[in-house]
Order: sequence, then C-alpha cells, then structure tokens
Amino acid sequence: MPDSKKAAEFRAELRDWLAENCPEGVRDGAEPNVETTPWGSSSIELDDDSRIWLERMAGRGFTVPTWPVEYGGAGLDRDLYPVLIEELKRINARTPLTGRGVNYIGPTILELGTDEQKARWLPGIARGEGGWAMGYSEPGAGSDLASLACRAELDGDHYLINGRKVWTSDAMDCDYIFILARTDPDAPQHLGISLILVDMHQSGVQVSPIRLLSGASPFNETVFENAIASANDVIGGVNNGWTVGKRLLQFERSTHAGINTSGSQGGRASSNMLPEQLRPYLSDQPALRRALVKHQMAFAAQRLTQQRVIEETAANAPGFASSAVKLSNALITQAGDELLIDALGTQGVGWDGDFLASELAATRTWLKQKSLTIAGGTMEVQKNIIAKRVLGLPD
Ligand SMILES: Cc1cc2nc3c(=O)[nH]c(=O)nc-3n(C[C@H](O)[C@H](O)[C@H](O)COP(=O)(O)OP(=O)(O)OC[C@H]3O[C@@H](n4cnc5c(N)ncnc54)[C@H](O)[C@@H]3O)c2cc1C
Repeated sequence: MPDSKKAAEFRAELRDWLAENCPEGVRDGAEPNVETTPWGSSSIELDDDSRIWLERMAGRGFTVPTWPVEYGGAGLDRDLYPVLIEELKRINARTPLTGRGVNYIGPTILELGTDEQKARWLPGIARGEGGWAMGYSEPGAGSDLASLACRAELDGDHYLINGRKVWTSDAMDCDYIFILARTDPDAPQHLGISLILVDMHQSGVQVSPIRLLSGASPFNETVFENAIASANDVIGGVNNGWTVGKRLLQFERSTHAGINTSGSQGGRASSNMLPEQLRPYLSDQPALRRALVKHQMAFAAQRLTQQRVIEETAANAPGFASSAVKLSNALITQAGDELLIDALGTQGVGWDGDFLASELAATRTWLKQKSLTIAGGTMEVQKNIIAKRVLGLPD
C-alpha cells in the first residue's frame, strides 16, 4: 500500500535522520533480547555505539514510539509506527531498548496508572534508566497465580513486603521489580491482590541465583524481608492487582508474540534462518524438503497474522488474541528447532567437544526454546484462555 502524504514525509525525514544518527556498530540486525540489546539495567555497561544509539533514539521518543510525547514517546499513530519499524529494518538497525520496562510495566502504567505515576515512572523507563524484573511466580503459585502468598502490609505511607518469588529472570541485574502481593489476606483469593513497584536496591530484597543444568543462571529466587515500597506505587488501585496483573501478562505475551507495539520491536519478527541451516541436508532427504515447505508456510502465515493483529489493535497490545499469537509463535519456533535437530542427527545432541559451533548452537537453542511454551504462561494455560475467552466455551 502506498504511503499517505503524512507517512511519506515522515519516512523521508526519518531516513535522513537514521542515515546520520544510527551508528555502524548497531547495524547488525541482532535479535532484541537481554544479551544483545540495552534493557535499562544499571549494572550492565553498554558499548559506545549501543549507548549513543539509545540516547539518540530516546531523544526522539523512538524507544517507545507510540507513547505520548510528554511521557518520553514520539506519539506515533498506526500509520507512522510501521514506517519506523520498516526503516529500522531497512538499515538492519538493532532495537535501541528492550526489556520489561518498555514492554511490560511501562505500557501497564500508561494504561492503568494515575497521572502522577505516569509522570514519575514513564520518562525514565523510556530513557532506559533502570532494569525491571517480574515478581509473579512463587513456589506454590505458577499457573495458579491467584494462590500467591507474598504479603504487603500498609505501614503509614509505605508497604512492608514479605514473601518469596521464584523464576525471577535477570533479577540479579535489575534495579526495580513489579510484584503481585496480597494486600488483603481476608478477601477472596482474586480480590486481595495488588501490583506494586519495588526498588531492588535495599537490604530487604535478596536475590539468589537458581542454577540450570547448563550451568547458566538467568533465573533467581527473590526473597522480601520487610522490604519497603511507597504506598504511591500501587498500580491500578489497591486490591485490584488481579485485573492489572492480567493486563500486564497480555503485554508480556504480546511481546513474546512479536505484536507489542509499545517499544520499537513490535512487528520486527526475526528472520527465518531455517532454510539456510537445512540447505546441506535437503538434496538427499525428500521428507525433510516436504517438512521444510510446510514449516515455511506456517511461518509465513504467522507473519501475516502478526501484521494483521498489529494493524487491528488500537492499544499497544491486543487482549486475549495475545494468547493465541504467543502460542502459535512458540509452537512454530519449536517445530523449526525440531526439524533442524532431526536433520543434524547425532551431531544435534552434543554439549561440547567434537561438534561444530553451529551444531552446538542448534542444540542449545533447541533446549532453550522449550521454555517458550512455559514462560509467560504455559501452553495449557493459553489453551484454557483461548477456549474460555476467545471461543466462549464453558468452564
Ligand atoms: C524462561 C522462563 C522465564 C520465566 N521468567 C519469570 C519471571 O521473570 N517472573 C516470574 O514471575 N515468573 C517467571 N517464569 C515462571 C513462569 O511464569 C511459570 O513457570 C509458569 O507460569 C508455570 O508455572 P509453574 O512453573 O509453577 O508450573 P505449574 O503451574 O506447576 O504447571 C505444571 C504443569 O501443569 C499444567 N497446568 C497447570 N494448571 C493447569 C490447568 N489449569 N489446566 C491445564 N494444565 C495446567 C501446566 O501447563 C504445566 O504443564 C519463567 C518461566 C520460564 C520458563
């Protein structure tokens, strides 16, 4: 579709600006994730190009392009946002800022916070000042999140928080954490919960790594012992955390699904490397060729679905559709991983030693991406949501 006059003018101006302001070092199209992309953490030092890119993009409001200008965004509408994404892709530029700040808690505050909370938190999030962790899961509360036990008791103008969160990704490098805590233990399970912002730089918050089989520890247990949070930092109202927390989960799932347009990565789907990776094995394996074609079709259909959802959604992320698109994205990604591992045969099950770097990478990616149908809500939970909320089936 040709650009509107407004979009054409924006594209021309943007192209010139990007040519001058996007450093060479960030023109490698790296996937937006916490390993390659700034996400606000004050304990991770950025290389010069990433820092300059972040500052320049934040200066134009392009780290959160759809947010209002007064909160650090560029106020781009549905016509102009895709132009920005296309132009970033055209020069292979990295996303300048990712993470739970711009993608999860930022849009939640923008949608459900008070004016005072928006003014206090959003500009800093847009500039990447502070990395955010997510404190939902507990030892006895994963899918059944409403049985969470972490307590927050009002004590004057602040809350005292006590409890234990698990699987807090990246918490060891985070500055803030948003948590779901019980603020009214006498209320029915779903009604006495609040979503609260907590500064992690205090002695009442202790983070311990949970080591995985691989030796890495991106997960943590985060323990709160009389940790303090301001009474002003309850988002969306006291005891309304179940509703607020579920909306935040839609932002999380939309981010996993590539359809969250809060930051500047929505709609920037990763490139499909599979045909290239499978090329050496295709000539003598007709079944593999057929499987690849089927996968390519699913991948292309997923892209079109993502595009359509972004075009149809007025807010920064859709509602229940986020569950469907997140799930299909995860399943297609995992199916691609399986195809590659099948093609590699015994070379696809190495951990170290006599294997090519590309083979080791394939094995680790295959195992790592198993988590795509657990993180942000399991596959079964997404299917339950789709059945109840999208298809309207009975409980
Ligand atoms: C990579 C990764 C990153 C994560 N990061 C974070 C984070 O930063 N912060 C955070 O708070 N949490 C995080 N989590 C935790 C994640 O949200 C939970 O693992 C997830 O919600 C599932 O909870 P659980 O592990 O307790 O499993 P359970 O809830 O115990 O589920 C076990 C099994 O039972 C099934 N099941 C449970 N209930 C139902 C039901 N009603 N119907 C059908 N099947 C059901 C599940 O689908 C699953 O297969 C992360 C998880 C992963 C894998």
